[in-house]
Amino acid sequence: MARFLSVLHLFWILFSCNRGFAAANGDAVEGNLTGHPLTPINHDLYHSSSDLMEQITTLVHRHPDKLSVNTFKTGNKGYNAEITVVTYCQSGRESDDRSKFRILLSFGQHGRELITSELALRMLSILSEEQFLPNMDPSSLNMTLDNLVIKVVAMENLNGRKIVEVGDFCERRNGRGVDLNRNWGVDWGKKEKDYDPYEENPGTAPFSEPETQIMRKLALSFDPHIWVNVHSGMEALFMPYDHKNTTPEGLPSQRMRFLLDELNQVHCHKRCMIGSGGGSVGYLAHGTATDYMYDVIGVPMAFTFEIYGDSTASSKDCFKMFNPVDLSTFNRVLNEWSAAFFTIFKLGPHQLDETRPKNFASNLDKSIPIDEYLDGYLMERSSRYGKKMEVLDLGMQEIRTYFRLFLLSSVLLMFMFCSKISKSKGRPTVPAMPL
Ligand SMILES: [Zn+2]
Repeated sequence: MARFLSVLHLFWILFSCNRGFAAANGDAVEGNLTGHPLTPINHDLYHSSSDLMEQITTLVHRHPDKLSVNTFKTGNKGYNAEITVVTYCQSGRESDDRSKFRILLSFGQHGRELITSELALRMLSILSEEQFLPNMDPSSLNMTLDNLVIKVVAMENLNGRKIVEVGDFCERRNGRGVDLNRNWGVDWGKKEKDYDPYEENPGTAPFSEPETQIMRKLALSFDPHIWVNVHSGMEALFMPYDHKNTTPEGLPSQRMRFLLDELNQVHCHKRCMIGSGGGSVGYLAHGTATDYMYDVIGVPMAFTFEIYGDSTASSKDCFKMFNPVDLSTFNRVLNEWSAAFFTIFKLGPHQLDETRPKNFASNLDKSIPIDEYLDGYLMERSSRYGKKMEVLDLGMQEIRTYFRLFLLSSVLLMFMFCSKISKSKGRPTVPAMPL
């Protein structure tokens, strides 16, 4: 369904050349095929990307005791990207203190999900104590935050966001058409039968995109206890895995599930879908950030949140589908989800009890220097069997290949068997592709 919507969207683009400029100027735009009006960006509610980043930078400069900012830039093949990272740490010089509990949050990975970056700005305002959460005692908040280092990426996909701002409201990919939530290394490049490159183009290789390279490097060096990838398009609290229809087993899974249940009760009023991304959203997603954070970086609590969606919006009306369009909903979403994050700040460290299990894959991964990954192994990785690949990796490749062949033949047999019994209606549908 989601891919079908994108095909519709592509069709729509082809037949509406000047719609974008009209929309960017704030006029309601007619959908050419059906005459449905398309909702433009509400500039009374939403900052432009440049304004939002400027607001964040000036906020940081007003609070040097708590906030600091770094911008990372890289590029390849003529495409350049930059990511600005804000670090929150009371008594700022201790931000490298490895005894502190570390949280990494990313917003705006998909260009069209503007509300997520507004949430990042709201959170930073609350962290700096320029704004306050209703019903929260400032002194207890300060005690909660005392032992934390929080890194916030307010706009992971700045180039994609700029495309949305000139009128392509359905664009979710980066500035050269790659979906940044399909460009990571776990199960990368696998395509479902209804794969649509307009939505899910995974790039030419894992970590082909500068934005993903920067995020990966950030995660490896910061080594967070909690990762949250913030999206919109529906209301959901997802834990691994996105690429398969299961959650991890044992204690790590129970911890994540407990936290998500709590958030759903207290802040989402039980509206949120909850569980593994792959098992809940209606489609499997391959090469996602959250699966990589959990499986390879070894982040013990890795999540994808979907903070808002309008399932009644027309399939072409992407701004309305992914973002609140009126003031009261806009404020409700920002207040509820800011509060949800502060619940995470409070409960997260207790859940992990300051111990963190690390898996084998993560230790193996870290034995290779980060810069080697960035400068050679990943960025210029033209051959899957390049000379730098570890012997163990080659063995695993073969095992994986045999396993996939086995799975494929089993699935084929199952399919032949099932198709004789009944006609399938196809896989479940969702109103949009948020994840
Ligand atoms: Zn998204």
